[in-house]
Amino acid sequence: MTKIKNMIPFNKPYLHGRELVYIAQSVASGKISGDGLYTKKCHEFFEAKYKFKRALLTTSCTDALEMAAILLNIKEGDEVILPSFTFVSTANAFVLRGAKLVFADSCEDNPNIDPLQIEALVTSRTKAIVVVHYAGVACDMDRIMAVADRSGIPVVEDAAQAIDSYYNGKALGSIGKLGTFSFHETKNIISGEGGLLAINDLNFMQRAEIIREKGTNRSSFFRGEVDKYGWVDIGSSFLPSDIIAAYLFAQLENVDLIQARRIAIWKTYYGTLLTIAEQSGRFTLPNLPKYATNNAHMFYLVCDSIETRSKLISHMKARGVHAVFHYLSLHKSDFFDKKHDGRELKNSDRYTDCILRLPMFFELSDSDVEQVLDSIIEFFV
Ligand SMILES: *Cc1c(COP(=O)(O)O)cnc(C)c1O
Repeated sequence: MTKIKNMIPFNKPYLHGRELVYIAQSVASGKISGDGLYTKKCHEFFEAKYKFKRALLTTSCTDALEMAAILLNIKEGDEVILPSFTFVSTANAFVLRGAKLVFADSCEDNPNIDPLQIEALVTSRTKAIVVVHYAGVACDMDRIMAVADRSGIPVVEDAAQAIDSYYNGKALGSIGKLGTFSFHETKNIISGEGGLLAINDLNFMQRAEIIREKGTNRSSFFRGEVDKYGWVDIGSSFLPSDIIAAYLFAQLENVDLIQARRIAIWKTYYGTLLTIAEQSGRFTLPNLPKYATNNAHMFYLVCDSIETRSKLISHMKARGVHAVFHYLSLHKSDFFDKKHDGRELKNSDRYTDCILRLPMFFELSDSDVEQVLDSIIEFFV
Protein backbone atom coordinates (compact mmCIF):
# COMPACT_ATOMS: atom_id res chain seq x y z
CA MET A 1 0.00 0.00 0.00
CA THR A 2 1.36 3.39 -1.00
CA LYS A 3 1.71 5.83 1.85
CA ILE A 4 -0.82 8.66 1.48
CA LYS A 5 0.85 12.05 1.83
CA ASN A 6 -2.30 14.04 2.40
CA MET A 7 -6.04 13.61 1.80
CA ILE A 8 -7.09 15.98 -0.95
CA PRO A 9 -10.82 16.62 -1.28
CA PHE A 10 -12.43 17.49 -4.59
CA ASN A 11 -13.68 20.85 -3.33
CA LYS A 12 -13.35 23.07 -0.28
CA PRO A 13 -15.54 26.16 0.10
CA TYR A 14 -13.46 29.32 0.39
CA LEU A 15 -13.82 31.74 3.30
CA HIS A 16 -11.91 35.00 2.93
CA GLY A 17 -12.88 36.36 6.36
CA ARG A 18 -14.76 39.55 5.45
CA GLU A 19 -17.90 37.42 4.92
CA LEU A 20 -18.37 37.17 8.70
CA VAL A 21 -17.87 40.91 9.19
CA TYR A 22 -20.50 41.73 6.57
CA ILE A 23 -22.94 39.15 7.93
CA ALA A 24 -22.59 40.77 11.37
CA GLN A 25 -23.27 44.19 9.82
CA SER A 26 -26.27 42.88 7.95
CA VAL A 27 -27.72 41.41 11.14
CA ALA A 28 -27.00 44.63 13.06
CA SER A 29 -28.80 46.67 10.39
CA GLY A 30 -32.06 45.14 11.55
CA LYS A 31 -33.13 43.95 8.08
CA ILE A 32 -32.05 40.48 7.01
CA SER A 33 -34.81 39.56 4.54
CA GLY A 34 -34.27 40.00 0.81
CA ASP A 35 -33.21 43.14 -1.09
CA GLY A 36 -31.38 44.71 1.86
CA LEU A 37 -28.10 46.65 1.90
CA TYR A 38 -25.82 43.82 0.70
CA THR A 39 -28.19 42.63 -2.01
CA LYS A 40 -28.04 46.14 -3.48
CA LYS A 41 -24.24 46.20 -3.24
CA CYS A 42 -24.06 42.87 -5.10
CA HIS A 43 -26.46 44.09 -7.80
CA GLU A 44 -24.37 47.22 -8.35
CA PHE A 45 -21.17 45.19 -8.50
CA PHE A 46 -22.50 42.87 -11.20
CA GLU A 47 -24.00 45.65 -13.30
CA ALA A 48 -20.80 47.73 -13.15
CA LYS A 49 -18.22 44.97 -13.65
CA TYR A 50 -19.94 42.64 -16.10
CA LYS A 51 -22.28 45.09 -17.88
CA PHE A 52 -25.47 43.15 -17.24
CA LYS A 53 -28.28 45.65 -17.86
CA ARG A 54 -29.79 44.55 -14.55
CA ALA A 55 -28.80 41.94 -11.97
CA LEU A 56 -31.18 40.23 -9.53
CA LEU A 57 -29.89 37.89 -6.84
CA THR A 58 -31.78 34.61 -6.50
CA THR A 59 -31.56 31.73 -4.05
CA SER A 60 -29.85 29.53 -6.67
CA CYS A 61 -29.02 29.23 -10.36
CA THR A 62 -31.86 26.70 -10.51
CA ASP A 63 -34.23 29.47 -9.40
CA ALA A 64 -32.76 31.94 -11.89
CA LEU A 65 -33.41 29.36 -14.64
CA GLU A 66 -36.98 28.88 -13.41
CA MET A 67 -37.46 32.65 -13.52
CA ALA A 68 -36.10 32.69 -17.07
CA ALA A 69 -38.60 30.03 -18.16
CA ILE A 70 -41.49 32.00 -16.64
CA LEU A 71 -40.25 35.28 -18.17
CA LEU A 72 -40.10 33.70 -21.62
CA ASN A 73 -43.72 32.52 -21.23
CA ILE A 74 -42.77 28.91 -21.91
CA LYS A 75 -45.98 26.90 -22.22
CA GLU A 76 -47.12 23.32 -22.70
CA GLY A 77 -45.64 21.93 -25.92
CA ASP A 78 -43.20 24.78 -26.61
CA GLU A 79 -39.84 23.48 -27.77
CA VAL A 80 -36.63 24.38 -25.99
CA ILE A 81 -33.22 23.50 -27.46
CA LEU A 82 -30.47 22.74 -24.93
CA PRO A 83 -27.40 20.54 -24.51
CA SER A 84 -27.80 17.02 -23.14
CA PHE A 85 -24.43 17.25 -21.40
CA THR A 86 -25.42 19.59 -18.55
CA PHE A 87 -26.71 19.80 -14.99
CA VAL A 88 -30.31 18.73 -14.52
CA SER A 89 -31.54 22.24 -13.56
CA THR A 90 -30.88 23.55 -17.08
CA ALA A 91 -33.60 21.18 -18.26
CA ASN A 92 -35.90 20.97 -15.25
CA ALA A 93 -36.69 24.69 -15.19
CA PHE A 94 -38.28 24.38 -18.64
CA VAL A 95 -39.95 21.01 -18.01
CA LEU A 96 -41.74 22.62 -15.05
CA ARG A 97 -43.46 24.96 -17.57
CA GLY A 98 -44.47 22.04 -19.80
CA ALA A 99 -41.78 22.51 -22.45
CA LYS A 100 -40.75 19.80 -24.87
CA LEU A 101 -36.97 19.43 -24.54
CA VAL A 102 -34.96 19.07 -27.73
CA PHE A 103 -31.46 17.96 -26.81
CA ALA A 104 -28.47 18.97 -28.92
CA ASP A 105 -25.09 17.26 -28.96
CA SER A 106 -21.84 18.75 -27.68
CA CYS A 107 -19.03 19.76 -30.01
CA GLU A 108 -16.44 17.17 -31.02
CA ASP A 109 -13.57 19.13 -29.48
CA ASN A 110 -15.25 20.63 -26.40
CA PRO A 111 -18.32 19.82 -24.27
CA ASN A 112 -20.26 22.99 -25.24
CA ILE A 113 -23.39 22.82 -27.41
CA ASP A 114 -22.72 22.46 -31.15
CA PRO A 115 -24.15 25.51 -33.02
CA LEU A 116 -24.71 23.42 -36.17
CA GLN A 117 -26.99 21.14 -34.20
CA ILE A 118 -28.98 24.10 -32.88
CA GLU A 119 -29.53 25.33 -36.41
CA ALA A 120 -30.80 21.92 -37.54
CA LEU A 121 -33.17 21.59 -34.57
CA VAL A 122 -34.98 24.96 -34.80
CA THR A 123 -38.67 24.67 -35.76
CA SER A 124 -41.61 27.11 -35.71
CA ARG A 125 -42.35 25.81 -32.18
CA THR A 126 -38.88 26.63 -30.76
CA LYS A 127 -39.37 29.20 -27.98
CA ALA A 128 -35.91 29.27 -26.40
CA ILE A 129 -32.30 28.23 -26.92
CA VAL A 130 -30.46 27.50 -23.68
CA VAL A 131 -26.68 27.29 -23.83
CA VAL A 132 -24.30 26.23 -21.06
CA HIS A 133 -20.77 27.63 -20.84
CA TYR A 134 -19.20 24.39 -19.67
CA ALA A 135 -16.27 24.81 -17.26
CA GLY A 136 -16.69 28.59 -17.67
CA VAL A 137 -15.48 28.40 -21.28
CA ALA A 138 -17.65 30.35 -23.73
CA CYS A 139 -19.92 28.69 -26.27
CA ASP A 140 -19.53 29.87 -29.87
CA MET A 141 -21.82 32.86 -29.21
CA ASP A 142 -21.61 34.68 -32.56
CA ARG A 143 -22.83 31.62 -34.40
CA ILE A 144 -25.46 30.84 -31.78
CA MET A 145 -26.76 34.43 -31.70
CA ALA A 146 -26.88 34.49 -35.50
CA VAL A 147 -29.16 31.43 -35.58
CA ALA A 148 -31.28 32.81 -32.74
CA ASP A 149 -31.63 36.31 -34.18
CA ARG A 150 -32.52 35.00 -37.64
CA SER A 151 -35.43 33.06 -36.13
CA GLY A 152 -36.28 35.59 -33.40
CA ILE A 153 -35.68 33.03 -30.64
CA PRO A 154 -34.43 34.24 -27.24
CA VAL A 155 -31.17 32.82 -25.88
CA VAL A 156 -30.66 32.01 -22.20
CA GLU A 157 -27.06 31.57 -21.04
CA ASP A 158 -26.69 29.08 -18.21
CA ALA A 159 -23.52 30.74 -16.92
CA ALA A 160 -23.60 28.85 -13.61
CA GLN A 161 -19.87 28.05 -13.99
CA ALA A 162 -18.91 31.15 -15.92
CA ILE A 163 -18.39 34.02 -13.48
CA ASP A 164 -15.63 36.39 -14.61
CA SER A 165 -15.27 34.73 -17.99
CA TYR A 166 -15.57 36.37 -21.41
CA TYR A 167 -16.44 35.79 -25.03
CA ASN A 168 -14.46 38.17 -27.31
CA GLY A 169 -14.38 40.72 -24.48
CA LYS A 170 -18.05 40.39 -23.48
CA ALA A 171 -18.82 38.95 -20.05
CA LEU A 172 -20.58 35.60 -20.23
CA GLY A 173 -24.16 36.03 -19.09
CA SER A 174 -24.37 39.45 -20.79
CA ILE A 175 -24.91 38.22 -24.36
CA GLY A 176 -28.24 36.35 -24.41
CA LYS A 177 -31.46 38.03 -23.29
CA LEU A 178 -31.04 36.36 -19.91
CA GLY A 179 -28.08 34.84 -18.07
CA THR A 180 -28.03 32.73 -14.92
CA PHE A 181 -25.24 32.23 -12.37
CA SER A 182 -24.66 29.95 -9.38
CA PHE A 183 -22.90 30.69 -6.11
CA HIS A 184 -23.17 27.12 -4.85
CA GLU A 185 -20.18 26.18 -2.71
CA THR A 186 -18.60 24.25 -5.60
CA LYS A 187 -18.39 27.34 -7.86
CA ASN A 188 -15.61 29.98 -8.03
CA ILE A 189 -17.53 32.65 -6.08
CA ILE A 190 -19.82 31.27 -3.43
CA SER A 191 -22.48 31.96 -0.81
CA GLY A 192 -23.31 28.34 0.13
CA GLU A 193 -26.40 28.32 -2.04
CA GLY A 194 -27.13 31.35 -4.20
CA GLY A 195 -27.68 32.57 -7.72
CA LEU A 196 -28.18 35.50 -10.04
CA LEU A 197 -30.44 36.36 -12.93
CA ALA A 198 -28.73 38.73 -15.38
CA ILE A 199 -31.25 40.65 -17.45
CA ASN A 200 -29.89 42.05 -20.71
CA ASP A 201 -33.21 43.10 -22.25
CA LEU A 202 -34.89 45.70 -20.05
CA ASN A 203 -38.34 44.68 -21.31
CA PHE A 204 -38.07 41.78 -18.88
CA MET A 205 -37.19 43.89 -15.84
CA GLN A 206 -40.57 44.85 -14.42
CA ARG A 207 -42.00 41.36 -14.69
CA ALA A 208 -38.79 39.78 -13.33
CA GLU A 209 -39.13 41.80 -10.12
CA ILE A 210 -42.74 40.67 -9.78
CA ILE A 211 -42.00 36.99 -10.39
CA ARG A 212 -39.17 37.14 -7.86
CA GLU A 213 -41.50 38.63 -5.19
CA LYS A 214 -44.20 35.93 -5.21
CA GLY A 215 -46.08 37.49 -8.12
CA THR A 216 -46.59 40.81 -6.32
CA ASN A 217 -45.54 44.35 -7.21
CA ARG A 218 -43.86 44.78 -3.84
CA SER A 219 -40.61 46.08 -5.41
CA SER A 220 -42.48 49.00 -7.04
CA PHE A 221 -44.24 49.62 -3.74
CA PHE A 222 -40.92 49.91 -1.86
CA ARG A 223 -39.74 52.44 -4.46
CA GLY A 224 -42.94 54.45 -3.87
CA GLU A 225 -44.18 53.90 -7.43
CA VAL A 226 -47.53 52.44 -6.29
CA ASP A 227 -49.36 53.17 -3.03
CA LYS A 228 -50.25 49.55 -2.26
CA TYR A 229 -49.01 46.24 -3.45
CA GLY A 230 -50.84 43.09 -4.41
CA TRP A 231 -50.95 39.97 -6.52
CA VAL A 232 -50.43 40.78 -10.19
CA ASP A 233 -48.81 37.70 -11.84
CA ILE A 234 -47.50 34.20 -11.12
CA GLY A 235 -44.28 34.01 -9.14
CA SER A 236 -42.46 32.48 -6.24
CA SER A 237 -40.00 33.43 -3.52
CA PHE A 238 -36.81 33.69 -5.53
CA LEU A 239 -34.93 36.32 -3.51
CA PRO A 240 -32.24 35.38 -0.99
CA SER A 241 -31.81 36.67 2.55
CA ASP A 242 -29.46 39.64 2.88
CA ILE A 243 -27.23 37.40 5.03
CA ILE A 244 -26.48 35.37 1.90
CA ALA A 245 -25.78 38.57 -0.03
CA ALA A 246 -23.41 39.72 2.74
CA TYR A 247 -21.37 36.54 2.37
CA LEU A 248 -21.42 36.90 -1.41
CA PHE A 249 -20.32 40.54 -1.40
CA ALA A 250 -17.12 39.71 0.50
CA GLN A 251 -16.34 37.10 -2.15
CA LEU A 252 -17.04 39.54 -4.98
CA GLU A 253 -14.67 42.09 -3.49
CA ASN A 254 -12.00 39.39 -3.68
CA VAL A 255 -12.81 38.04 -7.12
CA ASP A 256 -9.38 38.99 -8.53
CA LEU A 257 -7.55 37.26 -5.68
CA ILE A 258 -9.69 34.13 -6.01
CA GLN A 259 -9.36 34.02 -9.79
CA ALA A 260 -5.59 34.54 -9.78
CA ARG A 261 -5.03 31.52 -7.53
CA ARG A 262 -7.44 29.28 -9.43
CA ILE A 263 -5.84 30.21 -12.76
CA ALA A 264 -2.37 29.51 -11.36
CA ILE A 265 -3.48 26.03 -10.26
CA TRP A 266 -5.12 25.41 -13.65
CA LYS A 267 -1.95 26.39 -15.51
CA THR A 268 0.21 24.12 -13.38
CA TYR A 269 -2.12 21.20 -14.09
CA TYR A 270 -2.14 22.00 -17.80
CA GLY A 271 1.59 22.60 -18.15
CA THR A 272 2.53 19.33 -16.48
CA LEU A 273 -0.14 17.14 -18.04
CA LEU A 274 0.30 18.28 -21.63
CA THR A 275 3.33 16.09 -22.31
CA ILE A 276 1.83 13.15 -20.40
CA ALA A 277 -1.31 13.42 -22.53
CA GLU A 278 0.73 13.49 -25.74
CA GLN A 279 3.10 10.69 -24.74
CA SER A 280 0.48 8.31 -23.36
CA GLY A 281 -2.20 9.08 -25.97
CA ARG A 282 -4.77 7.99 -23.37
CA PHE A 283 -6.37 11.30 -22.48
CA THR A 284 -6.73 14.84 -23.79
CA LEU A 285 -6.82 18.22 -22.06
CA PRO A 286 -9.43 21.01 -22.25
CA ASN A 287 -9.49 22.87 -25.54
CA LEU A 288 -9.89 26.66 -25.22
CA PRO A 289 -11.27 28.32 -28.36
CA LYS A 290 -9.65 31.65 -29.34
CA TYR A 291 -12.78 33.65 -28.50
CA ALA A 292 -12.95 32.30 -24.92
CA THR A 293 -11.16 33.21 -21.69
CA ASN A 294 -10.46 30.66 -18.99
CA ASN A 295 -11.96 31.36 -15.55
CA ALA A 296 -10.46 28.17 -14.10
CA HIS A 297 -13.78 26.92 -12.83
CA MET A 298 -12.78 23.37 -13.59
CA PHE A 299 -9.84 21.28 -14.66
CA TYR A 300 -10.78 18.11 -16.46
CA LEU A 301 -9.23 15.33 -18.49
CA VAL A 302 -11.05 13.52 -21.28
CA CYS A 303 -9.97 9.89 -20.92
CA ASP A 304 -9.91 7.49 -23.87
CA SER A 305 -12.54 5.20 -22.30
CA ILE A 306 -14.74 4.70 -19.27
CA GLU A 307 -12.40 1.87 -18.20
CA THR A 308 -9.40 4.18 -18.12
CA ARG A 309 -11.42 6.72 -16.15
CA SER A 310 -12.65 4.19 -13.56
CA LYS A 311 -9.15 2.79 -13.05
CA LEU A 312 -7.66 6.27 -12.77
CA ILE A 313 -10.26 7.31 -10.16
CA SER A 314 -9.41 4.25 -8.01
CA HIS A 315 -5.69 4.79 -8.51
CA MET A 316 -5.95 8.43 -7.39
CA LYS A 317 -8.24 7.56 -4.48
CA ALA A 318 -5.65 5.09 -3.15
CA ARG A 319 -3.23 8.02 -3.17
CA GLY A 320 -5.56 10.31 -1.22
CA VAL A 321 -6.86 12.29 -4.18
CA HIS A 322 -10.58 12.68 -4.74
CA ALA A 323 -11.29 13.13 -8.46
CA VAL A 324 -14.88 13.04 -9.71
CA PHE A 325 -16.88 12.76 -12.92
CA HIS A 326 -20.22 14.28 -13.78
CA TYR A 327 -23.17 14.66 -16.09
CA LEU A 328 -24.86 11.59 -17.39
CA SER A 329 -26.35 12.64 -20.75
CA LEU A 330 -29.83 13.95 -19.87
CA HIS A 331 -31.39 12.37 -22.97
CA LYS A 332 -30.46 8.97 -21.48
CA SER A 333 -31.64 9.72 -17.93
CA ASP A 334 -34.38 7.61 -16.31
CA PHE A 335 -36.68 10.62 -16.48
CA PHE A 336 -36.14 11.45 -20.15
CA ASP A 337 -35.01 8.27 -21.92
CA LYS A 338 -38.47 7.38 -23.27
CA LYS A 339 -39.29 10.98 -24.21
CA HIS A 340 -36.15 11.48 -26.32
CA ASP A 341 -36.62 11.39 -30.08
CA GLY A 342 -33.98 8.69 -30.53
CA ARG A 343 -31.19 10.77 -32.11
CA GLU A 344 -27.76 9.60 -31.10
CA LEU A 345 -25.73 12.29 -29.28
CA LYS A 346 -22.32 10.73 -29.46
CA ASN A 347 -20.18 13.54 -28.10
CA SER A 348 -22.44 14.01 -25.09
CA ASP A 349 -22.19 10.27 -24.41
CA ARG A 350 -18.43 10.31 -24.82
CA TYR A 351 -18.06 13.15 -22.28
CA THR A 352 -20.45 11.25 -19.97
CA ASP A 353 -18.04 8.29 -20.02
CA CYS A 354 -14.68 10.01 -20.23
CA ILE A 355 -14.52 13.33 -18.35
CA LEU A 356 -12.63 13.33 -15.07
CA ARG A 357 -12.47 16.45 -12.90
CA LEU A 358 -9.43 17.14 -10.72
CA PRO A 359 -9.55 18.86 -7.31
CA MET A 360 -9.84 22.61 -7.90
CA PHE A 361 -10.25 25.14 -5.10
CA PHE A 362 -8.60 28.29 -3.79
CA GLU A 363 -6.82 26.68 -0.87
CA LEU A 364 -5.27 23.84 -2.85
CA SER A 365 -1.58 24.26 -2.01
CA ASP A 366 1.34 23.82 -4.40
CA SER A 367 2.23 20.56 -2.67
CA ASP A 368 -1.41 19.36 -3.03
CA VAL A 369 -1.25 20.14 -6.75
CA GLU A 370 2.00 18.19 -6.99
CA GLN A 371 0.42 15.21 -5.21
CA VAL A 372 -2.54 15.26 -7.62
CA LEU A 373 -0.18 15.42 -10.60
CA ASP A 374 2.09 12.67 -9.25
CA SER A 375 -0.88 10.35 -8.86
CA ILE A 376 -1.81 10.88 -12.52
CA ILE A 377 1.74 10.63 -13.86
CA GLU A 378 2.30 7.40 -11.96
CA PHE A 379 -0.82 5.95 -13.58
CA PHE A 380 0.05 6.81 -17.18
CA VAL A 381 3.83 6.62 -17.31
C1 LIG B 1 -24.15 24.42 -10.64
C2 LIG B 1 -24.95 24.45 -11.87
C3 LIG B 1 -26.34 24.74 -11.87
C4 LIG B 1 -27.14 24.82 -10.62
O1 LIG B 1 -26.77 25.81 -9.73
P1 LIG B 1 -27.49 25.92 -8.31
O2 LIG B 1 -27.09 27.29 -7.85
O3 LIG B 1 -26.95 24.83 -7.46
O4 LIG B 1 -28.96 25.82 -8.52
C5 LIG B 1 -26.99 24.85 -13.07
N1 LIG B 1 -26.35 24.69 -14.25
C6 LIG B 1 -25.04 24.39 -14.30
C7 LIG B 1 -24.37 24.24 -15.63
C8 LIG B 1 -24.30 24.24 -13.12
O5 LIG B 1 -22.99 23.95 -13.18
